[in-house]
Amino acid sequence: MNLTNYHSHSTYCDGSAPLKKFVSEALNQGFTSYGFSSHAPLPFSTNWNMDKDKMEDYLEECCELVVEYKNKIELYLGLEIDYLTDEYNPSSAYFQNLPLDYRIGSVHFVEIDNEQFVDVDCGVELFRENVQKYFNRDYEEVVIRYFEAQRKLILAGGFDFIGHCDKISKNASANAKGILDSSFYKSVVKSYFEFVAQHKCMLEINSKAYELRGMLFPNIEHFELLRELEIPVMVNSDSHKPQLINSGRKEALKALHTAKFDRVMELHDGVWTGVPIHTIYRY
Ligand SMILES: [Zn+2]
Ligand SMILES: [Zn+2]
Repeated sequence: MNLTNYHSHSTYCDGSAPLKKFVSEALNQGFTSYGFSSHAPLPFSTNWNMDKDKMEDYLEECCELVVEYKNKIELYLGLEIDYLTDEYNPSSAYFQNLPLDYRIGSVHFVEIDNEQFVDVDCGVELFRENVQKYFNRDYEEVVIRYFEAQRKLILAGGFDFIGHCDKISKNASANAKGILDSSFYKSVVKSYFEFVAQHKCMLEINSKAYELRGMLFPNIEHFELLRELEIPVMVNSDSHKPQLINSGRKEALKALHTAKFDRVMELHDGVWTGVPIHTIYRY
């Protein structure tokens, strides 16, 4: 029944509960395949990423859980890794040498100059302040820079799938009303998805904001284009709390089916596999 999730955060980074609580909840809800994906260490400190000195414990605890639950659920060890620069991204030797089952490539920052990074994945208010301070209130400029970073992530490679691409739609639309309906935004997003397809990347449909804001990343309006471009997708809840691991999944799967997707990607026996969307998600 497509009960899988490969994007979740525990107390190793900014999640609210230890890894084991997420596993218990996944078992309670009948999940068959589940992945941990702490925010990877960054070259500077934030209040949400995992410190580098916790990496060993994280890897060890994940491996212990994989063994402990091996007859009950498939557990996988991942990381959500930022694209910052051509030197710091999922393809960096440090991340490639870690014994991970998969890597998520995500953009949370836009570089402005000289390795100065602006957080664009923050709350709506801080985003507004950042755009005012660093982009002269030019929301189109920040959107262009964000999708440039998304393209550089793809060119750098080293990841299994792209996390919440188009998440800037939340902050951009909250501050610049109507921007998502503009021909500017639509053409930026369309050409980005064409780039994704050319490079044969997998995308997640991130359902984290569905309950609160009715938004998916990428948003539902792009699903038909994703399907036409034959981009493989999976649904992830990017859960920071055990009780939210299944949040928005049903709605995302239904919307994918409506857009004529017939399968989603799941990790089984260590291999990404296209699995048919279950009939319960079909109208
Ligand atoms: Zn993220
Ligand atoms: Zn995340």
